[in-house]
Amino acid sequence: MNTIAEGIQALKKAKRLVFFTGAGISADSGIPTYRDPLKGLWKKHDPSLLETSKAFRENPALVWGWYLWRREQWGLAQPSCGHLAINRFSEMGFDVSVVTQNIDDLHERAGPQQVVHLHGSLAKPKCFACHRPADLSAKQAAIADDAALLEPPRCPRCNGKLRPDVVWFEEKLPIDIWKKAMALVKSCDVLFSVGTSGIVMPAADIPAIALASGATVIHVNIADVSLGNPNELMLIGRAADMLPHLLSSL
Ligand code: NAD
Repeated sequence: MNTIAEGIQALKKAKRLVFFTGAGISADSGIPTYRDPLKGLWKKHDPSLLETSKAFRENPALVWGWYLWRREQWGLAQPSCGHLAINRFSEMGFDVSVVTQNIDDLHERAGPQQVVHLHGSLAKPKCFACHRPADLSAKQAAIADDAALLEPPRCPRCNGKLRPDVVWFEEKLPIDIWKKAMALVKSCDVLFSVGTSGIVMPAADIPAIALASGATVIHVNIADVSLGNPNELMLIGRAADMLPHLLSSL
């Protein structure tokens, strides 16, 4: 039996699906992963050195400029055929949830299914000092003259600097978000692990947790990322090709 046929067999017996996604699914929308070289203004920068509270303390304008630029790129991007295929699974009657490491909003823009953002989201900032969420006006969200350095706006309550509401390197995942993800992962019949390298912890443990809970895991990736478990299937290819292909074979 080929892997697509095995995937269909697993899906025929399944009701609850979890799509655990990473930067690879958004690569099909033209958003680079951190493994792709950065372009233009940001080509000399390393995201792992920008996405820390230390970097924000030392140079808040550089870190804020980086996120505003990323936010702008995502605003211009559209959900890929991979994002849209996930929505089609839910239209077909599966109980679908998304657990994503991505901080973009492409899953939400592809359809109405539940999305748990493990690493936060760029939809709204929060205050670096008092941690309360805040809103950004259109003017504050705009990038002036392709500048890298942009002073972060101030918190309307305490006048602290606003930062993106994302989980930075060396920060812990919010416990309520992790618990919500675990409840979905441990109760699903099939977990799709799409476009993730399985390196960033603790998210990287999610496929193994699903397998230990009795689910079938279907990896969709341009590289072989399987763990060698008999309940795993590895579909090698772009998410934007493989997920619609699987759907059309159902
Ligand atoms: P990663 O960069 O470590 O791995 C990307 C994975 O996607 C790789 O395994 C690669 O082989 C695969 N891939 C690339 N193109 C693909 C495609 N078209 N179809 C299927 N697979 C493809 O990303 P990660 O595992 O998500 O972890 C790194 C961190 O990077 C995460 O914390 C995430 O928040 C962050 N990140 C997010 C975004 C975003 O929000 N869009 C973008 C860049 C990085």
